[in-house]
Amino acid sequence: VMDAPVVLRVRDLKKSFQGLQAVGGVSFDLHQGEVISIIGPNGSGKSTTINLISGFLSPDSGLIDINEQSVAGLSAADVSERGLARTFQNGRVFGGLTVRENVELGTHKRLDAQRPFKQLQQYPILQWLPLLAETGLALIPGPRAKREARDAAIRVDREIDRFKERLGNRKDDFTYTLSYANRRRTEIARAHISEPTLLLLDEPTAGMNQSETAEVLEQLQYLKVQGHTILLVEHKMDLVSALSDRVLAMDGGTIIAQGTPEEVRNAPQVVEAYLGK
Ligand code: ADP
Ligand code: MG
Repeated sequence: VMDAPVVLRVRDLKKSFQGLQAVGGVSFDLHQGEVISIIGPNGSGKSTTINLISGFLSPDSGLIDINEQSVAGLSAADVSERGLARTFQNGRVFGGLTVRENVELGTHKRLDAQRPFKQLQQYPILQWLPLLAETGLALIPGPRAKREARDAAIRVDREIDRFKERLGNRKDDFTYTLSYANRRRTEIARAHISEPTLLLLDEPTAGMNQSETAEVLEQLQYLKVQGHTILLVEHKMDLVSALSDRVLAMDGGTIIAQGTPEEVRNAPQVVEAYLGK
């Protein structure tokens, strides 16, 4: 995997909140097909790192490149256009949409549908085009769009069926009626179906019991076998060991150890960081 191209390059990334340095100079490379986990005690800067990479926060300094293009300081929408998909520490789905509808959101092409219109706006005579699009008039589906919608529906079904025992029979239920674990499964399915170049998962099994965790582990192993490039924040060392090619341990906003799961788990500075809390 280390010979594979670098999908994500992070250099000397820094972010402070009101004088408190949450991330104080983080650097690493994530190669194509590699799974890296970030571990570390609460408050060590893991979520902030993920939020910086995904454009939910803007760094004070440092480089973030996805496929050799700088994304540091871009909006979350622009970073997702570059192929990044993520899930959130507390799980975010749209409660007023069904499981199927939530997952379907992930099938919409990353390329912002409005982008061609934005470019056209520099030609004054074409300025009415976005209006047409916004009113839906330019979106009357032709045969091709109908076929694409049908294909997307089949993919959505297949994606949800991967969690068949739990989600498979809840496809048309609103996600606000689901258990926390099922909402998180829906979130992972939505991220996965977008075929991301890079997938960021912030504590995907937080708050789950053992059997729920095992089911998500199985799903993540499937993603790994498929060759996905994944950056994972996770506390459960069993899960980290089962999935990760490499582990980064953070404490106080910096990387204090890195290596195989085995190496990092036993590194004295890591043991101490956890004991100190
Ligand atoms: P972790 O995910 O490793 O538990 P975080 O990245 O969430 O840690 O937080 C790192 C530090 O930054 C903590 O001290 C936290 O209180 C602080 N922090 C995180 N986000 C904010 C914010 N939006 N405003 C102020 N402080 C924050
Ligand atoms: Mg966190």
